[in-house]
Amino acid sequence: MMATDRAPIVLVVEDEEALAESVRYNLEREGYAVEVVTNGMSAVRRFRAAHHDLVLLDLMLPGMSGLDVCKALRAESVVPIIMVSAKDAEADVVAGLELGADDYVTKPFSMRELVGRVRANLRRASFGAAPDAEVLESAALRLDLSRHELTVRGGPVELRPKEFELLEALMRRSGRLATREALIEEVWGPGYFGDTKTLDVHIKRVRQKVEEDPHNPRLIVTVRGLGYKFVDG
Ligand code: CA
Repeated sequence: MMATDRAPIVLVVEDEEALAESVRYNLEREGYAVEVVTNGMSAVRRFRAAHHDLVLLDLMLPGMSGLDVCKALRAESVVPIIMVSAKDAEADVVAGLELGADDYVTKPFSMRELVGRVRANLRRASFGAAPDAEVLESAALRLDLSRHELTVRGGPVELRPKEFELLEALMRRSGRLATREALIEEVWGPGYFGDTKTLDVHIKRVRQKVEEDPHNPRLIVTVRGLGYKFVDG
């Protein structure tokens, strides 16, 4: 878990030297400590020794693959893992998310985008460490988990139970992709084999209750082919 009295340490697993150094430079400039390794075996070995606060993991590595690294780390840690994938490697991204990775960026990415993702995932990780947090808040929404109440731009809004659970699942992943599979499993249970249209119908209902313009959603956005993402402040 991330301590508050030191800079978070990011493990960068990247075999392209120029890219790794650029990532290092930009993360260090933001105040993070950075360790770079260039292959999967080193990544697993170094993570076991140093327990970094976040792992930025290229999927295309020499030797042990990024997916195998992801699997190995996830077997022993809840550390946030951001995958770095090639533009045409959507299947790898999905496989990685199923193996427990938290997020991904696609090459080529801007350093500004990368730093934002790192920051969001670290924030999420430190939030996850506080089990008694019972209110999820964004710029427009306030979801009180213990009272089961939603406030939208200051006014109370009624949600049905599944709508509430769905919004909670999205807000807990604020700024990050929530895959269709993860949402269905979390809201309807791992044994749910129904039509995935159920998810889309519920998304539509929640959008009608929280979006200023449900036909042009700004809070619950669609990530084509993968799922949804909550984005708000
Ligand atoms: Ca690579």
